[in-house]
Amino acid sequence: MHYFEYKNDQLYCESVPLRHIAEQVGTPVFVYSRSTLERHFKVFEEPFASVDHLICFSMKACSNIAILHVFSELGGGVDIVSGGELFRALKAGVDPSRVVYSGVGKTASEMDEALAAGILMFNVESEEELDLLDKRAQLLGTTARMAFRVNPDVDPRTHPYISTGMRRNKFGIQFDRATDLYLRAKEMVGIDPVGVDCHIGSQLTELSPFMDAVAKLRGLVEDLRKHDIDIRYLDIGGGLGIPYDEEDPPLPADYGAAILDGVSDLNLKLILEPGRLLTGNAGVMITKVLYLKQGPEKLFVIVDAAMNDLIRPSLYQAYHSVWKVQRKAGESDAGDRIVADIVGPICESGDFLAQARELEQVQSGDLLVLMSAGAYGFSMSSNYNSRPRAAEVLVDNERFYVIRQRETYDDLIRGERLPEGARPHRNRKGVHDVFRGLYRGSDSVQKRPGG
Ligand SMILES: *Cc1c(COP(=O)(O)O)cnc(C)c1O
Repeated sequence: MHYFEYKNDQLYCESVPLRHIAEQVGTPVFVYSRSTLERHFKVFEEPFASVDHLICFSMKACSNIAILHVFSELGGGVDIVSGGELFRALKAGVDPSRVVYSGVGKTASEMDEALAAGILMFNVESEEELDLLDKRAQLLGTTARMAFRVNPDVDPRTHPYISTGMRRNKFGIQFDRATDLYLRAKEMVGIDPVGVDCHIGSQLTELSPFMDAVAKLRGLVEDLRKHDIDIRYLDIGGGLGIPYDEEDPPLPADYGAAILDGVSDLNLKLILEPGRLLTGNAGVMITKVLYLKQGPEKLFVIVDAAMNDLIRPSLYQAYHSVWKVQRKAGESDAGDRIVADIVGPICESGDFLAQARELEQVQSGDLLVLMSAGAYGFSMSSNYNSRPRAAEVLVDNERFYVIRQRETYDDLIRGERLPEGARPHRNRKGVHDVFRGLYRGSDSVQKRPGG
């Protein structure tokens, strides 16, 4: 359920026509709906109302500080996977006591930062990581609350790149070694083992893998308690899928009921780490058609967004629905349709946003919308081909806010320099002459074509 819909054949986000955003901010641009974000958070949280719980948004899905702020206002925390994410979370005003820290490769300085901030807990993924965390905590004169991320070895039946809870994956500690490792952790001066954690994968469309994982964790918690280890938190991770195309993932209510069924009598604080579910269908990407090109075998719709902006189709064969910002009256039911690959300007054959897609007739200048782009969209974007990254916009009813400016050419080379002593070559025409000549009234190279 989201708030992107047609009114008189114009696509709106809440009460703002997407055309206005494209005209004022340029393309490509990511647009998020605040009402949708809030709705998703509330719908997800509702089934857990009867137990002590904390929803830690897995912020790698969508890490703009304005998005974090929305969830923080609703009482949410975040699941971080790097020092950079901790920095963003603190900038957004997220309470450190609502931050959990996952990831297999935390560095000593990242641990120090999180210890100094006083985060709720570390999800530790190996024995060596535990040793280092103990050392860093002692050096800083504190103790680290932690959970082991255990690998329950269940098959989430999702894309192999996003399955994380099987024996062959790099994540978590081996399930049958967990009790021994907790006993070690308990003896460490800098370590306070307070929780058990798992995260088995992403875009899950069935409940049974979650239930299998929860049953295993339950057994572990009971075993640890027998060993006098006081487990107070149970972190189930994220991973609940969303509909991109024809998928029919479980409803949050059923997901919540299944989890509570497995653990509600354990008297634990539940931690949930949803990412995709909260933001995926709350965001879209608008792009403009540059050219149509008929190849010998295929029709290509060449647009101004590319795999550097939205990599999911190239990386995971992911499907995003494509809608037109302005559809012709009555065009919703068939009419003139084409089958085309929607591709970007990047010099890679893997650069596509949709393949063999049937859609309404389009032409140069039309605005297209890639739906369900709010998770792992902007946050996975890059500057490949020296493309400035897109702008991000948050819509709130009839208003919209630019929550991230489009990058400029200057942003592209920030931090780059010639080796010391190198004599800069002089262009016959300086870069500033070129860009100032093109963008009169602008005294720097801040603008870019189409921007
Ligand atoms: C990515 C990730 C999540 C979120 O997964 P979604 O499929 O987006 O819900 C949660 N926990 C951890 C540890 C992750 O790495």
